[in-house]
Amino acid sequence: MKQLKILLAASEAVPFSKTGGLADVAGSLPLALSSLGEKIAVFLPYYRLTKNRDFGIKFLQKGLKAKWGNWNPDFSLYHCKKENVDFYFIDEKEYFNRDFIYGTPLGDYPDNAERFGFFANSVLSSAQALNFKPDIIHCNDWHTALIPFYLKYKLANQGFFKNTKILFTIHNLAYQGVFPKEVISKLGIGCEFFVPESLEFYGKLNFIKSGILYSDAITTVSRGYAKEILTKKFGCGLEGLLALRKKNLYGIANGADYRQWNPRTDKLIKVNYDRKSLRNKLECKKDLLKQTKLSLSPALPLLGVISRLTQQKGIDIIIDSIPRVVTLSCGLVILGVGDEKYHKKLLALAKKYPQNIAVRIGFDNKLAHRIEAGCDMFLMPSRYEPGGLSQLYSLKYGTIPIVRAVGGLNDTIIDYGKNPDSGNGFKFSTLRPDDFIGALKRAISVYKNKKEWKNILLRIMKLDFSWEESAKEYIKVYQSIMR
Ligand code: ADP
Repeated sequence: MKQLKILLAASEAVPFSKTGGLADVAGSLPLALSSLGEKIAVFLPYYRLTKNRDFGIKFLQKGLKAKWGNWNPDFSLYHCKKENVDFYFIDEKEYFNRDFIYGTPLGDYPDNAERFGFFANSVLSSAQALNFKPDIIHCNDWHTALIPFYLKYKLANQGFFKNTKILFTIHNLAYQGVFPKEVISKLGIGCEFFVPESLEFYGKLNFIKSGILYSDAITTVSRGYAKEILTKKFGCGLEGLLALRKKNLYGIANGADYRQWNPRTDKLIKVNYDRKSLRNKLECKKDLLKQTKLSLSPALPLLGVISRLTQQKGIDIIIDSIPRVVTLSCGLVILGVGDEKYHKKLLALAKKYPQNIAVRIGFDNKLAHRIEAGCDMFLMPSRYEPGGLSQLYSLKYGTIPIVRAVGGLNDTIIDYGKNPDSGNGFKFSTLRPDDFIGALKRAISVYKNKKEWKNILLRIMKLDFSWEESAKEYIKVYQSIMR
C-alpha cells in the first residue's frame, strides 16, 4: 500500500500545548501513524506558552500570508521534528502570542473566530509554501473546521489540493465555534454561505458545521459517542445534520500513549511501579497524601479527579456527594480548572473537610501523573464523554475507574460487579449522587478485601489501549475516503 501523506491540524497538541484530551490525541496519534509508516505533518498555532519552553523549535520561513480574510500582517512558520513527525507552528503575533490558548479565566478571547479562522486559512497557505501536498487533511474540532470550507470553495479546483481529501474528527460536539454573523466578512466567507444549508446556525455562524458538511468523512472519539451524537440528547442541535452524513461517520476509540502514561517509566511520579512491584504504588499514595496535606490513613481509599471543571464532567455530582464521601472514610484529591462557581464550591469543601478533601485549581501535569499513581480509584461521573482518556490512564496505573456509563466511558469500562472475570471498574447509569455513591460503595466493599482488589489491579494494569489499533482504524478511514 502506498505511503499516505497526512496533514493534521489541531489547536493544541502534547507536549507543546494542552488544555485537555484533544492535545493528547493530536500529540500521540501522529507518532503512531508515523510508526505505521505514514508521512505526517502536524500544524499548530505557536502560542506564547509553547515559545516559553524549550522544545527545540526553529524558525523556518517568514512573510507568509493567509489569503481569504481581512487578516492583518504576514505570519511566520517554525518547525521541529519528533520521531519522524514534522511539527509546524504558525506564528502570528496578534492572535497566538497571548497568555492562554482559548481565553483568560474571565472568558473566551472575543476574537476567537478570527484567531482560528486565520489558523485554518494559514495552514493551507503553509502547506502550499512548503510544497507539502497531502493526500489527507485531518482536522480536529471547531478550531480547524473551516479548513474543509476553504478547501472546497476557495481551492478545490486549484491543482495543489486537487486530490486532497478531508477527515474531520469531533472530539467534543458541545464546542461548536458559534459566532455573530458579522465575522463572516472578516473570514472571507460570502453571504451566500450564511444560510441554514451551509454555515448559518440560528442566526449565527457555526464553524463545526463546515467540518460536518464539507469533509469527506467524519470520525468521533468512541463508537458509543458516534451513535449518541445522532440523538437529540447528545446531538447539541446538530443531530439532524449528522444523520445526513451517517454513512461517513465513524467512531474510533482514543488510544493511551504509554510512553507518557506508564507507572513503570513515568518520570513525574515518586516511585515507579508495575504489576510486579505494586507495593511501590503505596509509596506514591503516601507521597500524594503528604503533598496534598491530607491526614488520611494510607490504608483508607483515596479517590482522584483530574478534569476540566465543567458541567460536562459531572463536577456538580461530585460536589453534592462530598459530605457522604467523607462519611465513607475516603480521601479525595481534585485537580482541575474551569467554571468559577465550581472553584469556589470545591475550595469551600476542602476548607470544611481538610483531612479528607484536597483541591488544586489549575493545570498541573506533574500533579496529574501523581494523582493517577497515588490514588486507589478515579472518578468520572460525566454527563457525556466523547472518548475520555483519564480512565485509560487510570487502568494502567492500577487506579480503578468509577464512571458513568456514557460515551467512551461506557465503551471502555466493564462493571466489575456484573462481570467479576473481566470487570475493570465500577459503573453507574443515572446522573444522581445516590447512584454515584452506590457505585463508590460497591468499590469500597471490594477494596476492603485486599486480595480481591489486588487481583483486579493485576488484571487491569495488563490491559492494552495503546494507539496502534486506533491508528490502524484511522488509516482504514483515510484509505476509504481516498478511494
Ligand atoms: P477532556 O478532553 O474532555 O478534557 P479527557 O479525559 O479526554 O477529557 O482528557 C483529559 C486530559 O487532560 C488528560 O490527559 C488529563 O490528565 C488532562 N487534564 C485535565 N485537567 C487537567 C489539569 N487541571 N491539570 C493537568 N492535566 C489535566
